[in-house]
Amino acid sequence: MKHIRKKNEPEKLRVYRQTTDGASYDGLPGDTKRELNLALLKDQGFLCAYCMKPLAPKSKDVEGDVLSGVFDNKITIEHIYPRALCQTQMQHRQLDYKNLVAVCDGNSEGEFHCDKTQGPQGKASGQVSLACLDPTDAKMSENLLTYLLDGTICAKSGRHESCANHDLNTVLNLNHPVLQRNRKAVFDVVKTSLEGEMPKGTWNQQLFDRQIERWKNLTSDKYGVRRYKPYCMAALDFLEKLKNSPKYQ
Ligand SMILES: [Zn+2]
Repeated sequence: MKHIRKKNEPEKLRVYRQTTDGASYDGLPGDTKRELNLALLKDQGFLCAYCMKPLAPKSKDVEGDVLSGVFDNKITIEHIYPRALCQTQMQHRQLDYKNLVAVCDGNSEGEFHCDKTQGPQGKASGQVSLACLDPTDAKMSENLLTYLLDGTICAKSGRHESCANHDLNTVLNLNHPVLQRNRKAVFDVVKTSLEGEMPKGTWNQQLFDRQIERWKNLTSDKYGVRRYKPYCMAALDFLEKLKNSPKYQ
């Protein structure tokens, strides 16, 4: 999970919310929803807010689709505080940009995760919600989390450890085997890249810093879409651990 630095809400969303009687998420006009979708994707560097899977297709259609705001229909706009609860208990949060994120289809090889962990209606039904994790808050997302060498995501020890682990495993199912395998594969990519630059015995702080910069920053794909690398937080955690290990001090 990567911290999402939210920029300003899209203008169309603000106007709709402020000028429409009975404004609701379900009532959002199509063009407003497309602008919202694009804004969320840009804020997130085209990664799922929960699992860091890449969002939007990599096909030749991407250029026209992404820039015109027409997307892969597998992308969902997710309410962090669940939509059903917004409708009954916190009306203002259903159109609160800070409560909205873009997530993946939540289905890898037939097993559900992210907002779909509890089935197709998933988290939106309000039957389950996050106890403490929040991808829009650095302290309650990436700062709390670490990754094991087998690709497992887990909470660092501390005050929020058990509720963060509950959210990761029970609410979001982020240790689904496919996601775990994908994160482990990222460690192999990092190792190969390090070895490609310098033989293993000679790795140093400057090398780790260069690699960290690569995984930290947005890069343009061939269509000019600014993206973070999939599972980038797992790679950064791996590199920081190497950098801080006594072996390389
Ligand atoms: Zn996801």
